[in-house]
Amino acid sequence: MAIHKFVAPTGMGDVFSDRCRLLIHQLKLRAFTIAVALATHTLFPLLRWMQQRRIRRGDVIWLEEMTGPPQSQIFDHLAYVPADITPNPGLVRRRARFMKVEYPAAAYPFAYRRPPISGNTINGLGEVHPRRPDHVFFGDSYKRAWGKLDWYFQVMEPTAIHRQIVRMFWQDAARIGTVAPTVTTLANPDKAADRVKEMAKRFGAALVGITRLQPEFCYHDSQPDFAYAISVAVPMDREDMLHTPSERSNRQIMSTYLEVNRVAIRLAHAIRALGHPAQASTNLAPGSSTEVLHVPIAIEAGLGQLGKHGSMITPDFGSNVRLATVLTDLHLSIDHPRDIGVDDLCAHCRICETNCPPHALFSEKQLVRGERRWYVNFDKCAPYFAETRGCGICIEVCPWSTPGKGRELMRTLLERRGATS
Ligand code: SF4
Ligand code: SF4
Repeated sequence: MAIHKFVAPTGMGDVFSDRCRLLIHQLKLRAFTIAVALATHTLFPLLRWMQQRRIRRGDVIWLEEMTGPPQSQIFDHLAYVPADITPNPGLVRRRARFMKVEYPAAAYPFAYRRPPISGNTINGLGEVHPRRPDHVFFGDSYKRAWGKLDWYFQVMEPTAIHRQIVRMFWQDAARIGTVAPTVTTLANPDKAADRVKEMAKRFGAALVGITRLQPEFCYHDSQPDFAYAISVAVPMDREDMLHTPSERSNRQIMSTYLEVNRVAIRLAHAIRALGHPAQASTNLAPGSSTEVLHVPIAIEAGLGQLGKHGSMITPDFGSNVRLATVLTDLHLSIDHPRDIGVDDLCAHCRICETNCPPHALFSEKQLVRGERRWYVNFDKCAPYFAETRGCGICIEVCPWSTPGKGRELMRTLLERRGATS
C-alpha cells in the first residue's frame, strides 16, 4: 500500500487533494479491516478446523496446497538455496529456564513440497557487501517467499488473537494524517526532542529515543521520505511471558503490539498537530509493518544493544519489550548508541542458545549484509515460531530480562571491563 506524506496545505487545492488522498487511503484500510473482521468469525475458524482435522488424522499439511492467498514474490536477484526446516534430531518436550510451561518438541505437522528460498539467503547471511534488507515473514507477507508458512501461522491463531489483530488494523488508519496548517516553532532541537519524549512517555512509552532515519533502516522496497526516526518501547508483562509459548503469552505479545502501535500513532498525531509532518510505522498492519526495521532504529537511538538471541536488550526491561517507530521532519536533537556491556556477557553466556528448542541460535556473530553481528537462523526459528504461534523463549530466559537485574548487570560488566583494561 502506497505511503503518502501529507504536508501542510498552502492553498485550497492542496487542502482538497490532501484530504481526498487521506480519505481514500483510510476507506481502503477500513474496508480491508472489515473484511478481515468478517473472516475472523467465518473463514478462519473453518480453515483452522480443516487443518486441525488433518493433524488429528496424522496427515502432513502441505503448505503450498493450503487454501489461501497465492504467493507472488520472486527472488530473481538471489541464488535459490532451499530452506531446511527439518527439526534438529533429539529434541524432546521440556521446560526452559524460568518458564512456567513445557515447550512443545519441534515436530511439525506441515511441510513444503518444494522448500522456499532459505530465509538466511534472503536476510543476507554470509554476504560481504551492505544492502538494504528484504521483508521475509509476518505482517503483509502472504505474497512473499515464506508466505505459506505465515498463512498457516495466521490460520491457526485462535479467534481471540485475530480480534486483537483486527483492532490493530483499525487503529492503524490514523497512523498518517494531514498536518496542521499553523506551524508551532519549538525553540531549538534540544527543546523539541524533550517535548517529543515527554509526549511519548505521557502516551505510554516506557522508553523513547531519537535518531536520523538512514536508508539501511528501511526495507529495500520502502524509502519513507522523513529525516528522523523516534523509537518507542512498551514492556510486556513478565508473568504472562513466563508462560511462553502459550495462548496466554501470545495474547500478551499482541496486546503489547496494540499498545506500542497506539503510542506511536498518538505521538505522530501530536507532532502533526504542531504543524510538522509525521507518520507512525507500526507492527503487523499491512504497509506499515514493512517500512522500517524497528530494532536497528532503537539501537541507534540508544535504547539498548543487540543480544545473541537477535533481539535488542535494554537495561531496564531486557528484551521484554515491543517497539514501534514514528517518522518525522520535526528538527530534533538525536541520541546515540549505548554500550551497556551486552557483548561481554553474550561472549560467554549460552543460556538462550541451549534453551532454544530448534537450536536456532549461533554461538558466534555472523556476517550479515556486510556487518558482523548476532543472528538467528531463520530457517530453524520460523517454523517453530509458527507452530507455537509466537515463541519468545530466548528473550525470557536471558538474564537481562529478569526484572530489576539489568542495571546491576550493566554496572558489573562495565566495571569489570574497566578493571581489565
Ligand atoms: S523465538 Fe526462535 S530463536 Fe527464540 S527460542 Fe524461539 S525458536 Fe529459538
Ligand atoms: S541469554 Fe545470554 S547469550 Fe543469550 S542474549 Fe542473553 S546474555 Fe546473551
